[in-house]
Amino acid sequence: MILAGLQKNSFIDFPGKISCVLFVTGCNFICPYCHNADLARGEYPARFELTAIIDFLKSRRGMLEGVAITGGEPTLDRGIVDLCRAVKALGYPVKLDTNGSRPGVLRQLISEHLVDFIAMDIKAPLHDYSPFSRNPTIHEQMTASIRTIMESAPAYEFRTTCAAPFINGTTVEAIAKSIEGAACYVLQPFNRRAACLDPEFNQKQDPGLSADEMQRLKPRAAPFVKRCVIR
Ligand code: SF4
Repeated sequence: MILAGLQKNSFIDFPGKISCVLFVTGCNFICPYCHNADLARGEYPARFELTAIIDFLKSRRGMLEGVAITGGEPTLDRGIVDLCRAVKALGYPVKLDTNGSRPGVLRQLISEHLVDFIAMDIKAPLHDYSPFSRNPTIHEQMTASIRTIMESAPAYEFRTTCAAPFINGTTVEAIAKSIEGAACYVLQPFNRRAACLDPEFNQKQDPGLSADEMQRLKPRAAPFVKRCVIR
């Protein structure tokens, strides 16, 4: 497996842990507001062999408390299971970011105890994913991933990036209903300064929501989940 990037320290990518972050290249989604456009297109210039990552993790034992794996979409890479197995063999907890499009991979990682925390993005109500995926049946995979995570992941959160025109009170409520009973639902504001996969997305309009607008979203989602936070 070839990794596209390594961030040596992070205090925000693995809840409650100081972690490093591994970046897997390539994605099957087309989110217009994606901040990792080069990674999503599979064009990221950096390359790290798995052996180099393993050597780095060995050298950081006792300093790092976990390893966060993100992308792109990490579950697309055939090497994800072996990567998680190698990281776990070194004694590190693994946190995985996913867009939820590969429920079978999530099932395997969970059943083999290769992942400790899963953060799954939900971009929009499941019946309205056309701005994010070209797959007309993606809602089936999303639903399967949600069910798998809620039923069997050791720890998890669902997350929504709040950007217009996709997110408002009605759509947030619909998303929250699709994860009813979930342990944690995170609403995260769109970073309006970042470059996007669709270069015009934040040029021709301001997709960001104000702090007040974010606060007004929370009570629309909170009744359906155990914990709802704005991050
Ligand atoms: S934001 Fe969308 S396009 Fe970008 S990496 Fe995540 S799922 Fe892929």
